[in-house]
Amino acid sequence: MSDKLKEMFKEKLIIAGPCTFGNYEEIYKIAEELKKKNIKYMRAGTFKMRTNPNSFQGLRDMGMEMLFKIREDFGLKIVTELTTIEQIKKYGNKVDVIQIGARNMFNYELLKEAGRTNTPVLLKRSFSASYEEWLLAAEYIKNEGNKNVILCERGIRNNISNDTRNVLDIEAIPYIQKNTDYKIIVDPSHASGNRYMVEPLSKAALVAGCDGLLLEAHYNPEESLCDAAETIDFETLDRIIEFNKKIKNL
Ligand code: PEP
Ligand code: MN
Repeated sequence: MSDKLKEMFKEKLIIAGPCTFGNYEEIYKIAEELKKKNIKYMRAGTFKMRTNPNSFQGLRDMGMEMLFKIREDFGLKIVTELTTIEQIKKYGNKVDVIQIGARNMFNYELLKEAGRTNTPVLLKRSFSASYEEWLLAAEYIKNEGNKNVILCERGIRNNISNDTRNVLDIEAIPYIQKNTDYKIIVDPSHASGNRYMVEPLSKAALVAGCDGLLLEAHYNPEESLCDAAETIDFETLDRIIEFNKKIKNL
């Protein structure tokens, strides 16, 4: 494993923040809270891959400028999704972690472009990707030279109509850890689509030995411009962090 990843995973990697944000004040207030909690990595999307083209698409380049300002002011590392080759060329070496979303896991040209940066890449598993497809996607990145690939399990589709957005595949954690050298983090927010499930699923993933969590959090979840239903408040985030500390000493 690269030194960069060793450093990132000295402890479990906790990445938290909004799905997206609508103005500077909003992201500033979130960053302030994360800083207080000693969280080092902030997630926030400005190039949003929305299912509905009429939904808010993110602040885009303006949002990126805000994220860089936040990094300067708070020293937080920025984890953000890049969705096109042009965006990776422009921002790939400037962000701290490039997120490749579930919708783009099969976008091989995009993966290759991420592979030409030196930035850690968080590769989300696509809705219906097998482990093999997911690992081959990771290989597309590595083959271009960038070995800093982190996998993120974010729930898979099923053919039963429940109230949940996806189903968290907890099995992915032991599978990836037994069969590969990748670090695997878990996104219980997109897996469940339901705020009340995020804390129990986070705990389950931590107990199963995941290497970290990606969490959608907001000071006022209801106000979130995107994915409000699955966004947790900072009290819930505190409890998850406390649980993580507790199990470390079990
Ligand atoms: C996200 O984490 O912002 C996101 C869009 O998730 P996914 O790609 O897993 O749907
Ligand atoms: Mn989201």
